[in-house]
Amino acid sequence: MQGKSEIAKVITGVTATQALIDQAITQQADAILVHHGYFWKGEAQEITGMKQRRIKALLAHNINLIAYHLPLDVHPEFGNNRQLAHVLGLVDISSVSSVKPEGLLMLGELPDAMSHVGLASLIEEKLDRPPLSEAVIDRPIKKLAWCTGGGQGFIEQAVMAGADAFITGEVSEQTIHTAREMGIDFYSAGHHATERYGAKALGEYVADTYGLNVSFIDIPNPA
Ligand SMILES: [Zn+2]
Repeated sequence: MQGKSEIAKVITGVTATQALIDQAITQQADAILVHHGYFWKGEAQEITGMKQRRIKALLAHNINLIAYHLPLDVHPEFGNNRQLAHVLGLVDISSVSSVKPEGLLMLGELPDAMSHVGLASLIEEKLDRPPLSEAVIDRPIKKLAWCTGGGQGFIEQAVMAGADAFITGEVSEQTIHTAREMGIDFYSAGHHATERYGAKALGEYVADTYGLNVSFIDIPNPA
């Protein structure tokens, strides 16, 4: 969404919520860069209520809004998936090529095999939030598959790819049955918590490359 024509100060965040917009206004930002923007498929078209207030605030303060959804999940350097691997210290990273767009479901390894509880502690320490998890396999975890955000639907592809454990942001009731019956450990580490890192990394790149003043603002979300 268009705002002022010159950008010097940028706020990055996960979702373009009212709280993030309010922070951008306070900090006199010229642009907001996020992963979750507006106008999702299937969403009501009317600009009323919550959506009207957000857009009105952006327009009133001439703030540009830049949102990248899937591109900021799958980008080989700045994507949420690649950045989550970086945060967790995973190695031998590749993407599962049968899942499109490429980069949506990733594969990698822990440097050293871990117990289920050990990996839960690592996730809690790195993401600042305890995961919901299900221990299924009776061997240490080495090979991981992951998809940030609402990626629980990829659990079967994670099994097919030979992963010991699957990490994603969200969980459905049936995800646990699939984990148990197909034999894979499962971690739901938070949609927000797993997707904090793409917009942040892209913002750091923009700051370094173009000399802009960029700050990442985390608006915590338990989901
Ligand atoms: Zn998301």
